[in-house]
Amino acid sequence: MTQSSTDRPVLVLNAGSSSLKYQLVVPESGEVRAAGIVERIGEPGSEVADHSVALEQMRAQLRADSVRLDEVPLRAVGHRVVHGGPDFSEPVVIDDAVLDRIRHLSALAPLHNPAAVIGIEAARERLDVPHVAVFDTAYFSSLPAAASTYAVPRDLAAKHSIRRYGFHGTSHQFVAGATAELLGRPLEDLRQVILHLGNGCSASAVRGGRAIETSMGLTPLQGLVMGTRSGDVDPGLHAYLAREAGLSLDEIDTLLNKKSGVLGLSGVNDFRELVERVEAGDDDAQLAFDVFVHRLKHYVGAYLAILGGADVLVFTAGIGQHSAPVRAAVADGLGELGIAVDASLNDDDSSGARVISPDGSRVVVAVVPTNEELAIARQTADLVG
Ligand code: ADP
Repeated sequence: MTQSSTDRPVLVLNAGSSSLKYQLVVPESGEVRAAGIVERIGEPGSEVADHSVALEQMRAQLRADSVRLDEVPLRAVGHRVVHGGPDFSEPVVIDDAVLDRIRHLSALAPLHNPAAVIGIEAARERLDVPHVAVFDTAYFSSLPAAASTYAVPRDLAAKHSIRRYGFHGTSHQFVAGATAELLGRPLEDLRQVILHLGNGCSASAVRGGRAIETSMGLTPLQGLVMGTRSGDVDPGLHAYLAREAGLSLDEIDTLLNKKSGVLGLSGVNDFRELVERVEAGDDDAQLAFDVFVHRLKHYVGAYLAILGGADVLVFTAGIGQHSAPVRAAVADGLGELGIAVDASLNDDDSSGARVISPDGSRVVVAVVPTNEELAIARQTADLVG
């Protein structure tokens, strides 16, 4: 049987420091042939010593799913890379020079890019097809200078590539397109505020399909309150903690990235657990929920101003798609701004894209599932033809 190119899957790889997520997906149809995760890479006592071993483990897991990778007519491998820095504003086919540039960007993303580089190296050795890097920052390379520029001396910023990059771009771009489809309106006509609320959280303002503002910055620490990340704090906090609490820069980095956010306020970072505790009357959980929602409202209001009004407010990712209490709390009191949710539409936890605002609302409120793997597969296929 001959297979047309539209049956041929792309292998999407997302290499983290201790995990490797994979998905074998057909870009045109979105059919997922297999998906899984290899965890505990390089951890003490783990059988998975490094990312090369993780790829062999992936092969074994696929075999257990009756997928023989060597017999799959693979079109390409699409790699998720967190930071594209100033160099990459679009997906790119990976050669040695590209890999070198991604490696050099590790200074900007020490928690993320090194793992992607190791994952790409291991995959290129084993899979003899084109490899493509899809960057989490790429969609936000279109931010106007007024939005992407930090008010620090320009020569210093230029020397060290300091600007607002934004992250989760693959998701925001995918959701912007899917929302236009849901509403049956051209993307070019829409002003969208998109809230990606997963373990990491970010907001974006999108006009006519182009991102003009986003909440994350030089690193994925800025902006909204997240599972373990503080989001916005007074930039003076770093110096204060160093002087008053005697913390080193690395300790402050770890504190704000891994021990803060919802976890730091309530002791749990999983949002389902947080909501259960709120319902049980836990005061710490209630404060964490309130701080999370307050920050969200802050950004929604800011983005309405930046867009000059919005046509649609979109919720996506784990919390955005599944937490009716968060959506209700964000919309609460925003009637004057044209934003409201219908309680029964909001509480209906169906899985597809859907509108949850009452008929005739000035701003449509929608829940639109993200699918970063599919977006990466499509961008990869588009590039390799
Ligand atoms: P990632 O950013 O790792 O892709 P997800 O988009 O899957 O993560 O989002 C994970 C978050 O979504 C977790 O905080 C999880 O608790 C939350 N979540 C998932 N399902 C629900 C639910 N039914 N209600 C509330 N929160 C949920």
